[in-house]
Amino acid sequence: MAPATKADPVSHRLAARLRRALEGEVLFDRFSRGRYATDASHYQIEPVGVVVPRSGEDVRAALAIAREEGVPVLARGGGTSQSGQTVGRALVLDFSRHLNRLLEVDAEARTCWVEPGIVLDELNRRLRPTGLWFPVDVSTSSRATLGGMAGNNSCGTRSLRYGIMRDNLLAIDALLADGSEARFGEVGHNLDLPLPAPRRPSGELQQRGERGSGAGGGGEAAIALFRDLLALGRREAEHIAHAFPEVSRRVGGYLIDALVPAGGPVNLATLLCGSEGTLALSRRLQLKLAPAPKNKALGICHFATFRAAMEATRHIVALGPVAVEVVDRTLIELARDIAMFRAVMDAFVRGRPDALLLVEFAEDDQAENLRRLRRLEELMGDLGHPDGVVKVPDAAGQQAVWSVRASGLNIMMSMKSEGKPVSFIEDCAVPLEHLADYTERLTALFARHGTRGTWYAHASVGCLHVRPVLNLKLEHDVRTMRAIAEEAFALVKAYKGSHSGEHGDGLVRSEFHELMYGARTVRLFEEVKDRFDPRGLMNPGKIVRPPRMDDRSLFRFKPDYRVPEMTTALDWSAYPGAGRGFQGAVEMCNNNGECRKLAGGVMCPSFRVTGNERDVTRGRANSLRLAISGQLGPDAFTSDAMLETMRLCVSCKACRRECPTGVDMARMKIEVLAAALARRGLSLGDRLVAYLPRYAPYAARLAPLMNARDAIPGLAALAERLAGFSARRRLPRWRRDAFSPSPRLLGEGGGEGPPQTPPPEVALLADTFNAYFEPESLHDTVAVLDRLGFRVRVLAAGGTARPLCCGRTFLSVGLVEEARAEARRLLAAALPLAARGVPVVGLEPSCLLTLRDEIPALLPGADAEKVAGGALLLEEFLAGEAAAGRIRGPIGRHDGKVLLHGHCHQKAFGAMGAVGQALALVEGLEVETIESSCCGMAGAFGYGVDTYEVSMAMGELSLLPAVRRAPAGAVIAADGFSCRHQIRDGAGREALHVARILRRAMDAGEAPAPA
Ligand SMILES: Cc1cc2nc3c(=O)[nH]c(=O)nc-3n(C[C@H](O)[C@H](O)[C@H](O)COP(=O)(O)OP(=O)(O)OC[C@H]3O[C@@H](n4cnc5c(N)ncnc54)[C@H](O)[C@@H]3O)c2cc1C
Ligand code: SF4
Ligand code: SF4
Repeated sequence: MAPATKADPVSHRLAARLRRALEGEVLFDRFSRGRYATDASHYQIEPVGVVVPRSGEDVRAALAIAREEGVPVLARGGGTSQSGQTVGRALVLDFSRHLNRLLEVDAEARTCWVEPGIVLDELNRRLRPTGLWFPVDVSTSSRATLGGMAGNNSCGTRSLRYGIMRDNLLAIDALLADGSEARFGEVGHNLDLPLPAPRRPSGELQQRGERGSGAGGGGEAAIALFRDLLALGRREAEHIAHAFPEVSRRVGGYLIDALVPAGGPVNLATLLCGSEGTLALSRRLQLKLAPAPKNKALGICHFATFRAAMEATRHIVALGPVAVEVVDRTLIELARDIAMFRAVMDAFVRGRPDALLLVEFAEDDQAENLRRLRRLEELMGDLGHPDGVVKVPDAAGQQAVWSVRASGLNIMMSMKSEGKPVSFIEDCAVPLEHLADYTERLTALFARHGTRGTWYAHASVGCLHVRPVLNLKLEHDVRTMRAIAEEAFALVKAYKGSHSGEHGDGLVRSEFHELMYGARTVRLFEEVKDRFDPRGLMNPGKIVRPPRMDDRSLFRFKPDYRVPEMTTALDWSAYPGAGRGFQGAVEMCNNNGECRKLAGGVMCPSFRVTGNERDVTRGRANSLRLAISGQLGPDAFTSDAMLETMRLCVSCKACRRECPTGVDMARMKIEVLAAALARRGLSLGDRLVAYLPRYAPYAARLAPLMNARDAIPGLAALAERLAGFSARRRLPRWRRDAFSPSPRLLGEGGGEGPPQTPPPEVALLADTFNAYFEPESLHDTVAVLDRLGFRVRVLAAGGTARPLCCGRTFLSVGLVEEARAEARRLLAAALPLAARGVPVVGLEPSCLLTLRDEIPALLPGADAEKVAGGALLLEEFLAGEAAAGRIRGPIGRHDGKVLLHGHCHQKAFGAMGAVGQALALVEGLEVETIESSCCGMAGAFGYGVDTYEVSMAMGELSLLPAVRRAPAGAVIAADGFSCRHQIRDGAGREALHVARILRRAMDAGEAPAPA
């Protein structure tokens, strides 16, 4: 497809003026604009440019300059909208990076002031000490911003109890299209109440260039606007009273019903709520807080048919729950197939139900919750579903179940096929008495159009998410989308429901306002829009005067979207498309933004540090998709801009596991590096890293010389200049006494032999890092396995051949063919053992797990799969043997605490449970796992002069502070070689591989007897 055109004179001038006036980032390059061209909908519109304001003054200046240049503006938070409201041909203002402070909390009044870029989970974390929370608990709480939530009038799972965004928004300090400022809050219906108090949230005036917005709600312009709005409310009260469906989930159009006085004051902030950035920019928001629930009880109701669940819903709602959420059979089955969710499903789902209703009670008194749970059981019995409730009274169980529900959409989106569940009618809400008929008729409608949908979400309020599976690259499926939309919305209207119940209107639903609310109501929406924004400069094309929802020129996959065939280095055959499936893997990113979460899990450490859309998995995946489809110009895939996009990716593989659609950026980065190699070659630093396993045996022999860099003043600075290794780091110390396996340990390694006989054999992968820098870890591994009765053979190539290596260092710089050569040697040595059922055990997660991950992608086929199937980390091996009864604990004794940090790859492969199980074999040992993201060292990343700062910042996210807090006597455990170095450099503590802790425990305890 045609690459974006060169910046036109207006955007050129706009960019120059913005750069002169703003403190924040001004991004007009193709890559940046591409990264802001999509949200979680199927649309893609390249913005004119992007501004990341640092202050209110930046926002004002950006708006003023854009207005003068006649360029529209588009506010953006997390960009997780599903309806296309966050994309447009405009100047995008990203509020999420810098304008994200909690400004003030009034615990007594249960209110707070925030900046629009603050993320909901972050806000609630900060509020925790007050016992309060902001209860509009959207599924995207880990990355949705309050500005975006207000923009969309977002709704949470517990809206039955707490209402939706409009019910919890007290005031907005807004910037209007003409540059004037106003506080939108409660006013008397003739503006006869005093305008909202001018109290400024604390801390505000310390911002650069801030100035007050004037007393009350604003200046003369704002007062005139308020008067006109209230007049509209009075004039149209009669019409408005009948214009909208009477369901709680109605977020479509402007909330003009808020302008009609209903006996009390009018809150003008409500009108901005759900206005999707089309009326004003929110600069500060005042929120209503609620006491955090003290107790909860969850009942999981099982139904043999989906209809039965829908019929039961309104009866269940009468019991006073805070949430009733439905999950259908497809979702249940998909969740069962996902490793992360399997255990939860097995624990809480009985048999093969067609649907589940998750029913939560959250009264302060737990006895009352349990009473209601019993009542739920009785009700289910009365409705013909005896024994249909699984009770979950404990918080941990509840959290596990809710995590499956919150991942509902993501679970669906994990489909690898070209057809994907598409959101356009996913948001309809109907009165509860029609829920069963409505869902049945919609299902029939899908079948008529040759597709299907999966149901989940807010049964309690009649708002069910359903996404028909369609391939929007095909004209036929686009026509089907339109036909389904028209028929579905007509159905919803017949049931007096709402077509826009949660995710907003955007490009996908605005067009249908006239069908749903009538022409007069839409004219009123237009009147409101024109009063605020007569020149149409605020996010045009949303809510009023929209384009057609099926205008393919606005789609992410436009009619001319093509990815030319390309050569790739790795196997991507699990996916469809060019580059042996690389295209399909890249296109898996649906922009849901989960990788923008700021806490929990590991993904994505680079974003957690920089907050830059460039440095998040989503930003990288979008850049790749645009590049391979030619939308970023020629050779974009190997360009400097692409390398910059990948630079801070530490290849932690967290996205491989935590991205709901499995986007594996670490692997994609290898493709970029490999493709770019021909153009840019390798730096000296790259070579020193890549070829380390080759020169390690010689370097170790010259250890004193090799270690001189850290001993002789000035050498580190010289090395920094020559090789790019930061002088602020000490390098790992070469060891003259490097690991050198004895003939016994080399014995039969790699040879054919008779079927396995006791004692059982274990092949040890002696990785380069432990072998040449920390041989103790390997010695201790051998000792542990020996004492447990295993015959250890070090995996070797035989004869005088150089030591084996997994190839990771080559992959880290894109030398794929060298890595493939190493992989071949390793497979050749491991295969005969694998054929005899001998496991390959390793210590260093990044090396051993290469056997399970990259090597099958380098050398696809049965051999690699066979070896991968038997490749285990030491702890996985020990835990497996213990589970099989071949090792019996205790295997040693350690009185005290072990503070455990998991290597990213251990976490990405779900191997941390095994570490806990292996350490549990030691008597007296108490394990505390550090909730940490990447340590930041990540191979050579932390040593780079240009990545050192980010590396340290990653460490400071959680790992290093936790280690510093650890009591002096606590043992720090870290299996990753680079993690141990980061801990040493950043916290001054020595960390040990688990093998060393086990060895010490064995020495301290009794010698074990083989079982
Ligand atoms: C997997 C998934 C699950 C979801 N679950 C839910 C759910 O449970 N409930 C729900 O309601 N939604 C849900 N959504 C939709 C979306 O996540 C929410 O609407 C969320 O609140 C949007 O927040 P955001 O920061 O990403 O906003 P954005 O998408 O960045 O912006 C949303 C709108 O607000 C406007 N806006 C942003 N900042 C400002 C500002 N400062 N001033 C004026 N306008 C502004 C934007 O222009 C845009 O129109 C889901 C989406 C996904 C992908
Ligand atoms: S990379 Fe994954 S988590 Fe991030 S937006 Fe894309 S699909 Fe979502
Ligand atoms: S591999 Fe790690 S750093 Fe790279 S994109 Fe994925 S989560 Fe982010």
